[in-house]
Amino acid sequence: MDLHQRIKLMSRLASFERDGELDFESCIFHASTPKGKVPILKLMQTTMCDKNCVYCAFRRDREETIRMALKPEEVAKGFMELYTAGKVKGLFLSSGIFGNPEFTMERMIDSVKILREKYGFKGYIHLKLMPGVSLQTVEEAVKVASRISINLETSKEERLRRIAKGKSIVKDMLQKIEYVDRLIRGRKDKSQITQMMVGVEDEKDEEIISAVEYLNRRFRLSRVYFSAFIPVKGTPLENRKPADLKREHRLYQVDFLIREYGFRKEDFERILIEGNLPLDKDPKTAWAEANHWLFPVEINTADYETLIRVPGIGKETAREIIRRRREKSISSPADLKGIKNLSKILRFTLLNGKSFHQKSLI
Ligand code: SF4
Repeated sequence: MDLHQRIKLMSRLASFERDGELDFESCIFHASTPKGKVPILKLMQTTMCDKNCVYCAFRRDREETIRMALKPEEVAKGFMELYTAGKVKGLFLSSGIFGNPEFTMERMIDSVKILREKYGFKGYIHLKLMPGVSLQTVEEAVKVASRISINLETSKEERLRRIAKGKSIVKDMLQKIEYVDRLIRGRKDKSQITQMMVGVEDEKDEEIISAVEYLNRRFRLSRVYFSAFIPVKGTPLENRKPADLKREHRLYQVDFLIREYGFRKEDFERILIEGNLPLDKDPKTAWAEANHWLFPVEINTADYETLIRVPGIGKETAREIIRRRREKSISSPADLKGIKNLSKILRFTLLNGKSFHQKSLI
């Protein structure tokens, strides 16, 4: 197999073998970076792993997994071929843990160093940190990467012990997240993210929301990613039901509301149904309905913080409403012409004391 074929195969495998027929183009995904959306090659340094996480396609005991490893020079050369052909602009490098975390991470860092130093690549590189690496190696990774991720996976130690024996939330993840946070403070060219799994056990959304709030309050993460559980054939969880993708989507919305709109985990307590978010409506709308006595708000006098809590009103819309009402009082929907989500907004607002929505909020 030549290098191009090996890179293609490793990239397909990096897509977690969700689809055996996945073509190469669909292995290139578009990541949000400080410079906007960028086509990224997702690659594994090796698919060999000494760990046995119950959900993972690369777990040690899974016979079906194709085991391969790329040398650091191969990662760099293979990536550069695709980069110069204009197919990708960045790299997301992950790996199974082979030998020990330190050894694995050093090979990944070597790949990036070759890209940076030998090929002069200055673009976006996302490195996944291996749990269990030393702080010194974390520092090396931060020096060469644009983005670092440390996957928290779940919020409880006992749960992590069940699904990923040998990993520790406090020792392997939170300590490293905190260290990376310190290292990248004030650096616009560096960022950090984490990922949590959804539905790998019977954890409730309230557990995940608590963790999301803690992470957002304590660290400057660009965002928390969620990964809806998908069973992988040949793993102990192969017969477990896949998680609903809508649940993943609702959790993304909650993360956004906490990070950008000042929502707290307590805000969501009233809308949870047996600990889970409703799937049939977005969390902001569900929150407004559960707190219907706070609405409708008068659009001409509500402050910015109140406006951005109105379903349908985002930060940009709130600023636009404030700009328009400075010029002239908003007294009819015509004064809000061009504003997105208008019918939703009218449901929760008054225009000069008058409601332009028929339905009751209750
Ligand atoms: S350590 Fe990572 S690659 Fe290895 S089995 Fe666990 S999740 Fe999979």
